Amino acid sequence: MRGVGFQSRFILIIICSIFIGSCSTVPLTGRKQLSLVPSSQMLSMRQQEYSTFLQQNKLSTDQQSTALVRKVGTRIQGAVERYFSEKGISGDLSGYKWEYNLVESKEVNAWCMPGGKVVVYTGILPLTKDENGLAVVLGHEISHAVARHGDERMSQGLLAELGGMALNEALASKPEQTRQLWMSAFGAGVQVGALLPFSRTQESEADHLGLIFMAMAGYDPQTAVPFWERMAQQSGGNAPPAFLSDHPSDQSRIEAIKSELPEATKYYKR
Ligand SMILES: [Zn+2]
Repeated sequence: MRGVGFQSRFILIIICSIFIGSCSTVPLTGRKQLSLVPSSQMLSMRQQEYSTFLQQNKLSTDQQSTALVRKVGTRIQGAVERYFSEKGISGDLSGYKWEYNLVESKEVNAWCMPGGKVVVYTGILPLTKDENGLAVVLGHEISHAVARHGDERMSQGLLAELGGMALNEALASKPEQTRQLWMSAFGAGVQVGALLPFSRTQESEADHLGLIFMAMAGYDPQTAVPFWERMAQQSGGNAPPAFLSDHPSDQSRIEAIKSELPEATKYYKR
Protein backbone atom coordinates (compact mmCIF):
# COMPACT_ATOMS: atom_id res chain seq x y z
CA MET A 1 0.00 0.00 0.00
CA ARG A 2 3.05 2.24 0.08
CA GLY A 3 4.35 4.07 -2.95
CA VAL A 4 1.52 2.91 -5.16
CA GLY A 5 0.24 6.36 -6.10
CA PHE A 6 1.53 6.71 -9.65
CA GLN A 7 1.31 3.05 -10.49
CA SER A 8 -2.23 2.61 -9.22
CA ARG A 9 -3.33 5.74 -11.04
CA PHE A 10 -1.82 4.35 -14.22
CA ILE A 11 -3.55 0.99 -13.74
CA LEU A 12 -6.80 2.77 -12.96
CA ILE A 13 -6.58 4.70 -16.23
CA ILE A 14 -6.12 1.42 -18.11
CA ILE A 15 -8.99 -0.23 -16.25
CA CYS A 16 -11.13 2.83 -16.94
CA SER A 17 -10.32 2.55 -20.62
CA ILE A 18 -11.33 -1.11 -20.67
CA PHE A 19 -14.53 -0.63 -18.74
CA ILE A 20 -15.78 2.40 -20.60
CA GLY A 21 -18.39 4.14 -18.56
CA SER A 22 -17.38 2.33 -15.39
CA CYS A 23 -15.45 5.22 -13.96
CA SER A 24 -17.03 8.08 -12.16
CA THR A 25 -15.60 11.32 -10.87
CA VAL A 26 -15.90 11.89 -7.14
CA PRO A 27 -17.54 15.32 -6.89
CA LEU A 28 -15.93 15.75 -3.51
CA THR A 29 -12.36 15.37 -4.75
CA GLY A 30 -12.52 15.61 -8.54
CA ARG A 31 -10.56 12.34 -8.76
CA LYS A 32 -11.67 9.65 -11.20
CA GLN A 33 -12.40 6.32 -9.58
CA LEU A 34 -13.44 2.86 -10.69
CA SER A 35 -17.15 2.34 -10.13
CA LEU A 36 -18.59 -1.01 -11.15
CA VAL A 37 -21.28 -1.10 -8.49
CA PRO A 38 -24.41 1.07 -8.66
CA SER A 39 -24.82 3.00 -5.40
CA SER A 40 -28.38 1.63 -4.99
CA GLN A 41 -26.91 -1.88 -4.69
CA MET A 42 -24.27 -0.68 -2.28
CA LEU A 43 -26.93 0.89 -0.07
CA SER A 44 -29.08 -2.23 0.06
CA MET A 45 -26.10 -4.45 0.87
CA ARG A 46 -24.83 -2.15 3.60
CA GLN A 47 -28.09 -2.38 5.54
CA GLN A 48 -27.92 -6.16 5.55
CA GLU A 49 -24.21 -6.45 6.33
CA TYR A 50 -24.32 -3.82 9.09
CA SER A 51 -27.22 -5.60 10.82
CA THR A 52 -25.45 -8.95 10.54
CA PHE A 53 -22.28 -7.46 11.99
CA LEU A 54 -24.15 -5.99 14.95
CA GLN A 55 -25.89 -9.31 15.62
CA GLN A 56 -22.58 -11.18 15.58
CA ASN A 57 -20.66 -8.74 17.76
CA LYS A 58 -21.27 -7.55 21.30
CA LEU A 59 -22.32 -3.94 21.75
CA SER A 60 -20.46 -2.10 24.50
CA THR A 61 -22.33 -1.74 27.78
CA ASP A 62 -20.32 1.39 28.58
CA GLN A 63 -23.13 3.94 28.26
CA GLN A 64 -20.86 6.94 28.63
CA SER A 65 -18.45 5.96 25.87
CA THR A 66 -21.31 4.89 23.60
CA ALA A 67 -22.96 8.28 24.10
CA LEU A 68 -19.65 10.02 23.32
CA VAL A 69 -19.23 8.06 20.07
CA ARG A 70 -22.78 9.05 19.05
CA LYS A 71 -22.24 12.68 20.06
CA VAL A 72 -18.99 13.07 18.10
CA GLY A 73 -20.39 11.12 15.15
CA THR A 74 -23.50 13.28 14.97
CA ARG A 75 -21.39 16.46 15.07
CA ILE A 76 -19.12 15.22 12.25
CA GLN A 77 -22.23 14.18 10.29
CA GLY A 78 -23.63 17.72 10.66
CA ALA A 79 -20.35 19.12 9.33
CA VAL A 80 -20.39 16.71 6.36
CA GLU A 81 -23.97 17.68 5.51
CA ARG A 82 -23.11 21.41 5.67
CA TYR A 83 -20.00 20.90 3.54
CA PHE A 84 -21.92 18.94 0.88
CA SER A 85 -24.70 21.52 0.89
CA GLU A 86 -22.21 24.38 0.41
CA LYS A 87 -20.67 22.50 -2.53
CA GLY A 88 -24.13 21.89 -4.02
CA ILE A 89 -23.74 18.09 -3.88
CA SER A 90 -26.17 17.18 -1.07
CA GLY A 91 -27.70 14.64 -3.46
CA ASP A 92 -24.60 12.47 -2.92
CA LEU A 93 -25.77 11.87 0.64
CA SER A 94 -29.30 10.81 -0.30
CA GLY A 95 -30.00 7.35 1.05
CA TYR A 96 -27.68 7.92 3.99
CA LYS A 97 -29.12 6.67 7.28
CA TRP A 98 -26.47 7.50 9.85
CA GLU A 99 -25.91 5.11 12.71
CA TYR A 100 -23.13 4.89 15.31
CA ASN A 101 -22.35 1.87 17.46
CA LEU A 102 -19.59 1.07 19.92
CA VAL A 103 -18.63 -2.62 19.84
CA GLU A 104 -16.87 -4.48 22.64
CA SER A 105 -13.56 -5.67 21.21
CA LYS A 106 -9.84 -5.50 21.96
CA GLU A 107 -9.27 -4.69 18.30
CA VAL A 108 -7.95 -1.19 17.64
CA ASN A 109 -10.32 -0.35 14.82
CA ALA A 110 -13.20 1.75 13.49
CA TRP A 111 -14.96 1.92 10.12
CA CYS A 112 -17.84 3.47 8.21
CA MET A 113 -19.84 1.68 5.51
CA PRO A 114 -21.49 3.66 2.72
CA GLY A 115 -24.72 5.22 3.89
CA GLY A 116 -23.21 6.31 7.21
CA LYS A 117 -23.11 3.01 9.09
CA VAL A 118 -20.36 3.45 11.66
CA VAL A 119 -18.70 1.05 14.11
CA VAL A 120 -16.07 2.00 16.69
CA TYR A 121 -14.31 -0.77 18.68
CA THR A 122 -13.67 -0.22 22.40
CA GLY A 123 -10.02 -1.22 21.72
CA ILE A 124 -9.33 2.10 20.02
CA LEU A 125 -10.58 4.23 22.94
CA PRO A 126 -7.28 4.17 24.91
CA LEU A 127 -5.65 5.71 21.82
CA THR A 128 -8.31 8.27 20.99
CA LYS A 129 -8.18 9.23 24.68
CA ASP A 130 -10.81 11.97 24.52
CA GLU A 131 -13.48 13.59 22.36
CA ASN A 132 -10.90 15.20 20.06
CA GLY A 133 -9.22 11.86 19.35
CA LEU A 134 -12.59 10.32 18.51
CA ALA A 135 -13.27 13.25 16.18
CA VAL A 136 -10.02 12.49 14.31
CA VAL A 137 -10.97 8.83 13.88
CA LEU A 138 -14.61 9.45 12.96
CA GLY A 139 -13.71 12.38 10.67
CA HIS A 140 -11.25 10.13 8.86
CA GLU A 141 -13.52 7.06 8.60
CA ILE A 142 -16.60 9.05 7.55
CA SER A 143 -14.42 10.73 4.89
CA HIS A 144 -13.53 7.31 3.44
CA ALA A 145 -17.27 6.60 3.15
CA VAL A 146 -18.44 9.90 1.67
CA ALA A 147 -15.52 9.95 -0.79
CA ARG A 148 -16.76 6.47 -1.83
CA HIS A 149 -13.43 4.76 -1.16
CA GLY A 150 -15.18 1.57 -0.03
CA ASP A 151 -17.24 1.48 -3.23
CA GLU A 152 -14.01 1.94 -5.15
CA ARG A 153 -12.33 -0.93 -3.27
CA MET A 154 -15.41 -3.12 -3.73
CA SER A 155 -15.25 -2.44 -7.48
CA GLN A 156 -11.53 -3.22 -7.54
CA GLY A 157 -12.18 -6.40 -5.55
CA LEU A 158 -14.95 -7.58 -7.86
CA LEU A 159 -12.62 -6.99 -10.76
CA ALA A 160 -9.56 -8.65 -9.21
CA GLU A 161 -11.23 -11.61 -7.52
CA LEU A 162 -14.41 -12.21 -9.47
CA GLY A 163 -13.44 -11.08 -12.96
CA GLY A 164 -15.54 -7.92 -12.91
CA MET A 165 -18.75 -9.71 -11.98
CA ALA A 166 -21.69 -7.46 -11.12
CA LEU A 167 -22.48 -7.24 -7.41
CA ASN A 168 -25.93 -8.87 -7.59
CA GLU A 169 -24.55 -11.66 -9.78
CA ALA A 170 -21.60 -12.18 -7.40
CA LEU A 171 -23.97 -12.26 -4.41
CA ALA A 172 -26.12 -14.90 -6.09
CA SER A 173 -23.31 -17.19 -7.25
CA LYS A 174 -20.60 -16.62 -4.60
CA PRO A 175 -22.36 -15.16 -1.58
CA GLU A 176 -19.69 -15.92 1.04
CA GLN A 177 -16.78 -14.64 -1.05
CA THR A 178 -18.76 -11.52 -1.92
CA ARG A 179 -19.61 -10.84 1.72
CA GLN A 180 -15.94 -11.22 2.71
CA LEU A 181 -14.96 -8.86 -0.06
CA TRP A 182 -17.51 -6.37 1.24
CA MET A 183 -16.24 -6.48 4.81
CA SER A 184 -12.68 -6.11 3.53
CA ALA A 185 -13.59 -3.18 1.32
CA PHE A 186 -14.87 -1.23 4.32
CA GLY A 187 -12.03 -1.91 6.72
CA ALA A 188 -13.97 -4.47 8.76
CA GLY A 189 -12.28 -7.43 7.09
CA VAL A 190 -9.54 -8.14 9.60
CA GLN A 191 -11.61 -10.92 11.16
CA VAL A 192 -12.09 -12.63 7.81
CA GLY A 193 -8.36 -12.39 7.14
CA ALA A 194 -8.64 -10.58 3.86
CA LEU A 195 -7.98 -6.93 4.21
CA LEU A 196 -7.89 -4.77 1.11
CA PRO A 197 -5.72 -1.88 2.18
CA PHE A 198 -6.81 1.63 1.39
CA SER A 199 -4.39 3.16 -1.09
CA ARG A 200 -2.10 6.02 -0.20
CA THR A 201 -4.27 8.32 -2.34
CA GLN A 202 -7.40 7.30 -0.44
CA GLU A 203 -5.62 7.70 2.90
CA SER A 204 -4.46 11.21 2.02
CA GLU A 205 -7.97 12.17 0.87
CA ALA A 206 -9.48 10.84 4.10
CA ASP A 207 -6.90 12.65 6.24
CA HIS A 208 -7.47 15.92 4.40
CA LEU A 209 -11.29 15.77 4.42
CA GLY A 210 -11.32 14.42 7.97
CA LEU A 211 -9.40 17.46 9.22
CA ILE A 212 -11.89 19.81 7.55
CA PHE A 213 -14.94 17.93 8.89
CA MET A 214 -13.61 17.78 12.45
CA ALA A 215 -12.79 21.49 12.32
CA MET A 216 -16.28 22.35 11.00
CA ALA A 217 -17.74 20.20 13.79
CA GLY A 218 -15.96 22.41 16.33
CA TYR A 219 -12.96 20.18 17.16
CA ASP A 220 -9.46 21.64 17.02
CA PRO A 221 -7.75 20.03 13.99
CA GLN A 222 -4.35 20.51 15.69
CA THR A 223 -5.26 17.57 17.96
CA ALA A 224 -4.95 15.22 14.95
CA VAL A 225 -1.16 15.45 15.23
CA PRO A 226 -0.80 14.01 18.76
CA PHE A 227 -3.41 11.36 17.88
CA TRP A 228 -1.39 10.08 14.89
CA GLU A 229 1.80 10.30 16.97
CA ARG A 230 0.16 8.02 19.56
CA MET A 231 -0.81 5.70 16.70
CA ALA A 232 2.75 5.72 15.34
CA GLN A 233 4.06 4.81 18.80
CA GLN A 234 1.58 1.96 19.06
CA SER A 235 2.72 0.58 15.70
CA GLY A 236 6.27 0.25 17.03
CA GLY A 237 5.26 -3.08 18.64
CA ASN A 238 5.40 -6.49 17.03
CA ALA A 239 1.86 -6.71 15.72
CA PRO A 240 0.38 -3.42 14.54
CA PRO A 241 -3.29 -3.01 15.47
CA ALA A 242 -5.95 -3.55 12.81
CA PHE A 243 -6.56 0.16 12.43
CA LEU A 244 -2.90 0.59 11.50
CA SER A 245 -2.64 -2.28 9.07
CA ASP A 246 -5.33 -0.32 7.27
CA HIS A 247 -4.01 3.12 8.09
CA PRO A 248 -0.22 3.21 8.02
CA SER A 249 1.05 5.86 10.35
CA ASP A 250 4.43 7.37 9.83
CA GLN A 251 6.28 10.63 9.85
CA SER A 252 5.44 11.55 6.23
CA ARG A 253 1.75 11.18 6.99
CA ILE A 254 2.04 13.34 10.10
CA GLU A 255 4.00 15.95 8.14
CA ALA A 256 1.29 16.01 5.45
CA ILE A 257 -1.36 16.55 8.13
CA LYS A 258 0.68 19.38 9.65
CA SER A 259 0.91 21.08 6.25
CA GLU A 260 -2.90 20.95 5.93
CA LEU A 261 -3.57 22.47 9.35
CA PRO A 262 -3.64 26.13 8.21
CA GLU A 263 -6.47 25.32 5.76
CA ALA A 264 -8.40 23.21 8.31
CA THR A 265 -7.97 25.86 11.00
CA LYS A 266 -9.87 28.35 8.81
CA TYR A 267 -12.89 26.03 9.01
CA TYR A 268 -12.42 25.76 12.78
CA LYS A 269 -12.43 29.50 13.33
CA ARG A 270 -15.17 30.57 10.98
ZN1 LIG B 1 -7.99 5.43 6.40
